[in-house]
Amino acid sequence: MRDDPADDPMTEEIAEPAAEYLPEMAREAATEAAPPDSAPPVIASDDSLELVAADVCGCTACKLSATRTNAVPGEGAPRPLVMVIGEGPGADEDATGRPFVGKAGQLLDKMLASIGLYRESNCYIANVIKCRPPGNRDPQPDETAACASFLARQIQLLQPRFILCAGRIAAQTLLNTSTPIGKLRGKFIDFKAGDTAIPFLPTYHPSALLRNEDLKRPAWEDLKLLRAAIEGQ
Ligand code: SF4
Repeated sequence: MRDDPADDPMTEEIAEPAAEYLPEMAREAATEAAPPDSAPPVIASDDSLELVAADVCGCTACKLSATRTNAVPGEGAPRPLVMVIGEGPGADEDATGRPFVGKAGQLLDKMLASIGLYRESNCYIANVIKCRPPGNRDPQPDETAACASFLARQIQLLQPRFILCAGRIAAQTLLNTSTPIGKLRGKFIDFKAGDTAIPFLPTYHPSALLRNEDLKRPAWEDLKLLRAAIEGQ
């Protein structure tokens, strides 16, 4: 997973959050992204996290279904204070079916614990894309489009008070922008989900922190910003 801000010299302004991540737009997004017989189900009044997980695990709407070992729907508290959204599963996640369980995941858990957040109690962790791209390549646009309705359903069901967005790919996908993560991080953005706007804080992916020690300080600044917002709510 590449999350080094130096990777991306583009400086476009932030657009509205990508339409496919807005719950009311999920039906259209799913319809456009995949054939009718393989498109992920649309949001329904009797939807649940368990249904989303079952749909993810049975999904064949994009080519990543052919190379995954396990799909990785997400896990955590059903009414979380914070939802963490990353890019997609790596090798450890593909092997276990759980999000953020490798070295980067262990660092993420430590980072979250430092501000009182735990996936067991007040945090939910998911990814933009639910199946591992081969060789940890970036997800392709057709794949993120095909997968978008699953995250939209999760956001609607979870209704997190805050979203912490980990890494360049997730932030650029959800904000529909090519602005580098180094310019997106450090401030909250209103992420419109249905009738509500969820405070959305982009930060570096923990795998980027493992590669580049210099990113740890700004990442800690982001965590302090999130902690202050939680304490001030
Ligand atoms: S990445 Fe998403 S759309 Fe593609 S097969 Fe997996 S769950 Fe389905």
